[in-house]
Amino acid sequence: MLIGAALTLAVGLVAEPARRDGLFLWAAGLAAHTTAYSLLALRGVAHDVITIVLPNGLLSVTFACFGEALCRFYGRQPDRRLLWLPVVVCLLCFSLLMRDVTARLLAGPLVFGVQILTLAVLILRGRAATPGRGQYFLLFGLAALLPVLGLRAAMALGGDSSLANFEAPSTLQTLTFLTVMVSTLFATLGYVLMCKEVADHRNQRLAMIDELTGLPNRRSTLQGLAQQLAAVHRSGQPLTVMMVDVDHFKRVNDQHGHLVGDAALRHLAKTLRTRLRGQDLLGRLGGEEFLALLPATAATPGGLALAESLRAAVAANPMGGQGLTISIGVAAVEADQDLDVQAVISAADRALYRAKAAGRDRVEAARAADFELVAGSTA
Ligand code: GH3
Ligand code: MG
Ligand code: MG
Repeated sequence: MLIGAALTLAVGLVAEPARRDGLFLWAAGLAAHTTAYSLLALRGVAHDVITIVLPNGLLSVTFACFGEALCRFYGRQPDRRLLWLPVVVCLLCFSLLMRDVTARLLAGPLVFGVQILTLAVLILRGRAATPGRGQYFLLFGLAALLPVLGLRAAMALGGDSSLANFEAPSTLQTLTFLTVMVSTLFATLGYVLMCKEVADHRNQRLAMIDELTGLPNRRSTLQGLAQQLAAVHRSGQPLTVMMVDVDHFKRVNDQHGHLVGDAALRHLAKTLRTRLRGQDLLGRLGGEEFLALLPATAATPGGLALAESLRAAVAANPMGGQGLTISIGVAAVEADQDLDVQAVISAADRALYRAKAAGRDRVEAARAADFELVAGSTA
């Protein structure tokens, strides 16, 4: 009871009803669980309905709430009949079979067993899409109950009704309470870990992705460039880097507003992405600047030809009637060159600058001198 109350309090205090993680529903399940055991302890003091029918119904409510929480967690529409029908069955069984001890001792394990299996199926179905290992703690916590429920059902079938007496000392009774305690701890810890792991995963994604275009942001693009530069030495394959900048983009914002500008950027990102290979990385460096990394591609003919085809594709594509064009600076790194991120970025940047100076809507390749770092230049 104390452990149940402590868990209810802990989870309940951090949970918010509106949140997508379902912790609030889990706390509701824990509250039902704690209340059930508190009522069971009143056996002999209060009426049988309060100490037998109600607590068993509440235990079944616990599993239904856990099911609701899991559905919320997975963003799935809960099948209410599947989750709540066992609660009705449980209440009916215990009310009608009050005087039939064997039937009563059988009903509990059967109903709870079905509910646990339903939860297990829910978890296993969501397993592939759920990051982390918390889900296995939860599965273990639930699965640990099954052998005990099986033993109790077997004893009831064998005609042993000693389990009906809540307080009579018996090994199986002790084992049951111990298992319920451990199971509740494991399942709750598992569920809380699942919520944490999903939140971590989402935050990590948010830290790496540009919100507007869905492309890798500046941080992850530059990380990708560092990795690709290291791979150039390992594989001996060249790497082509393209810096793409929209021409006179300020005019689009000035003439049509930022929302149209945003839409044009999204459109451009899509146009570029669909023309690159799966292994190529395209990221947004910031503003209307993008960086494309093409592994195993030399400047000539591959890199420059691709840059030219991207430029032509954008020029031919009205981008929502804006008639936008792009300029591209291309810098290729050969296997025998030892260059860092800054040197490559500034080389591509200088080539891009020449493309702009030469009238825009152009592709320019970096020259050997462009790779020499100037003090104070930044990536
Ligand atoms: P150039 O041909 O020399 O590149 O000219 P430009 O106007 O494209 O260059 P400039 O760097 O002066 O302007 C870039 C503009 O991009 C300025 C800013 O208003 C716009 N911009 C940057 N980020 C965003 C964004 O996320 N959304 C929108 N709508 N506009 C942006
Ligand atoms: Mg620009
Ligand atoms: Mg710019």
